Amino acid sequence: MASEFSQETRVGKVLAGWNSLGELGPIQIKRAAGARVQLENGKWYDDYIMGWGSCLLGHDSEVIARSIRKSLRSGYLQQYETASHEALGNKFCSVVPCAEKLRLVNSGLEGTMYALRIARAVTGKRLVVKFEGHFHGLNDVLSWNTDTSDSCGEFFQDGSLKRMAGTVGLPPESSQWTIPVSWNDEKAVAQVFEIYGADIAAVILEPIALNIGCLKPAPGFLEKIRELTKRHGALLIFDEVLTGFRDNLGGAQKKLNVTPDLAVYGKAFGCGVPIAGVAGKSEFMDVIAPRGPLQISGTNTGRYFSVCAALAVIEHLEGSNVFEEVAKVEARLKRNLELIFRDHSIPCQIDSYGGRIGVHIGSDKTPATMADVARVYPVDFANNLFSVLTKKYDLYGFLMPLAYCPEPLTLSACHTLEMIDSASDRLNEALREVPYDH
Ligand code: PMP
Repeated sequence: MASEFSQETRVGKVLAGWNSLGELGPIQIKRAAGARVQLENGKWYDDYIMGWGSCLLGHDSEVIARSIRKSLRSGYLQQYETASHEALGNKFCSVVPCAEKLRLVNSGLEGTMYALRIARAVTGKRLVVKFEGHFHGLNDVLSWNTDTSDSCGEFFQDGSLKRMAGTVGLPPESSQWTIPVSWNDEKAVAQVFEIYGADIAAVILEPIALNIGCLKPAPGFLEKIRELTKRHGALLIFDEVLTGFRDNLGGAQKKLNVTPDLAVYGKAFGCGVPIAGVAGKSEFMDVIAPRGPLQISGTNTGRYFSVCAALAVIEHLEGSNVFEEVAKVEARLKRNLELIFRDHSIPCQIDSYGGRIGVHIGSDKTPATMADVARVYPVDFANNLFSVLTKKYDLYGFLMPLAYCPEPLTLSACHTLEMIDSASDRLNEALREVPYDH
C-alpha cells in the first residue's frame, strides 16, 4: 500500500518513537553534554527532557563512562553472572526498603509486566487495579486509561472507569483484567475491592504520579491501599521507574514511608544505560526461576556493562550530594515558575519531586486526578508556548505538553542556577508573545 510516506525508512522519521516531540516532530541531535544538547544545525539547547528522566547525572557523566570502559576490559561478558552482579544485588537491596531480592530486566515495560506475572502467580488471582493517567510502559494489560487514551474514562457504578485504550492493537479482552480507577479516589478503590477483591492480584501505581505532571498521593491514600491489599491478599506494586533514584536512594517508598510488596525500577537506575529491575520481598520473589517456576529472563537481561554502570550510579549517589544539588535547582525553578505565571495572570499549580517539575497550567487549585488536569489544561496554548520556547528560545523539552496534560520538566545534576534563571527569563519573554485567553 503506497503512501505519501513510502520513501521514509524510519516511521515518522524516527527509529525511536519518543524522539518525535509532539507537534514539533523529530529533531536531530548531534551531541549531548552535561545538561545540553547540540542540534544538527550546530546550536546548543538547554535540555529539560534528559533522557525522559534517566540522565540524572547528565549526558556525559564520567561515572557512567568510567564504569563502561572498565567493564569492556573483561570482554563483553554477555550473559554471564559476575561479582559485579552480586555487588549490585547486595547494594540495591541494602538501599531500597521493599527489596530483599532483585531481578534485572531491560525496560520499565518488562518490569511492570513481570511484576504482574509474579503477583498473579503468588496470589492465583487475575485482576489488576491501575490508576488513570499512570503509565507503566506499553504492555497490553497496562496500556489502558493512560494519557494517550482518547479521553478520561467515565465513572461506572462499581467505582471503576470506562476502559479507554492507550493504543490501538490491544486485544479487547485484556481490558477485562484491568480495573482503572481515579487517582486519589479512596472510595473507588475500596469499592472495587469490595466487589472484585477475591480476584484482584495486584494494585500497581506510580507513588507520585509523574506521568500526568506531578500529582502526589493525598494524605493517607497509599496507606489505605496498603491496608486494602493486605486485607484482600493482593500485592501492592510501586512503579518507581520515574521516582526511583531521583530524590533519595530508597525511592518514593522511602520518602512516603509506605513499603510495597514489589517495586519496579528503570530510568535513573541506569542513568542513561539500559537497565531495569523488579525487586521485592523474598516470599514473592522466590517464585522466580531458578527458585520457583516463574520465568523472567532474556538474552539482554543483566547485561554486564549496564550492571557495572548501575552499581557505579548507586555508589556515586551514596557518596555525593547529587540529590541536594538537584533539590536546589528544583526549588529555584519551581519558585521562578510560580512567580512568572502569577505575573502573567495565568492560573497554574506546580509540584515537584526528584528534579521533576509538573506545571499544571490552567489549574487554580491542586489537581488530584488526571481528569482534574485534563479538564482545564489549555492544550493549544501549551503547544504554542512549547513551540516558541523551542524554536526561538533554544530550550529543549521545556514545558512540553502531552495530549492533555504536562510532561514534567526534568532537571539533573548538571543543571545550574544560572541555566535555571536564564530559562526562566526566556519563559517570561515567550509568555509576552503567546496569548493566554482562557
Ligand atoms: N513506568 C513508568 C512510571 C514510566 O514513566 C515508564 C516510561 N516513561 C515506564 C514504566 C516504561 O519504561 P520503559 O520506557 O523503560 O519501558
